[in-house]
Amino acid sequence: MPNTPVMDRLVRKTVERHLPWNVHIDLTYRCNERCVHCYLDHHDYGEMTTREVKNVLDQLAEAGALFLTFSGGEIFLRPDLFELIAYGRGLNFDVSLKTNALLIDKSRAQKLRELGIRKIQISIYSADAAIHDAITKVPGSLDRSLRAVQFLLAEGLQVKLACPLMKQNLAGFRSGAGGRAGCAIHARFDDHADDGRRRRCAGAAQFGDRAFAGATRSESEFASMHAA
Ligand code: SF4
Repeated sequence: MPNTPVMDRLVRKTVERHLPWNVHIDLTYRCNERCVHCYLDHHDYGEMTTREVKNVLDQLAEAGALFLTFSGGEIFLRPDLFELIAYGRGLNFDVSLKTNALLIDKSRAQKLRELGIRKIQISIYSADAAIHDAITKVPGSLDRSLRAVQFLLAEGLQVKLACPLMKQNLAGFRSGAGGRAGCAIHARFDDHADDGRRRRCAGAAQFGDRAFAGATRSESEFASMHAA
């Protein structure tokens, strides 16, 4: 969400009036990755139907919500994803997505642009394929996700990389090693301690040709958090 004085005022007003201004919906808990840090049970115990999700969106629009994020699990496993995005856009929601991007190809990237998606956040755990793929437990996943990033950027879409820092990928962050993406886009680094504690970096960093350079916390801070 853009951080401007107008936005600040709008947010303050929605809080005062108890309006659901910014909504996050997990469309599924199913996923095609099995990340070591994931807290979800990926069994399909039943999901909201297309009609039920649309009904929720109708209610949210009626209640004054504006920003909508679809997340999961992996949202592209839902065959009705584009239908739901189109429905949300029809209700004038500003729609963002969170995905591992394994299933985004050129035509899906085009379709996302046509639907007016504002932002896509993609989980990238390391610029080193061996580390990333060991975390997702899907061989080739880094290559596939980064290919999707290129498809999305080629469509002019806003892409943000999300990287939880863990003991598995901290060394890459420390050394600034990597350089696989080769694209200047924003990245967010969250540090997840293994015992479930969560702390978040204070802002965005560039994910350029030196991946993980320039995060907003110092190396010593991360090192002390992960010393165990
Ligand atoms: S991509 Fe996300 S939902 Fe899927 S296993 Fe990894 S952390 Fe869990």
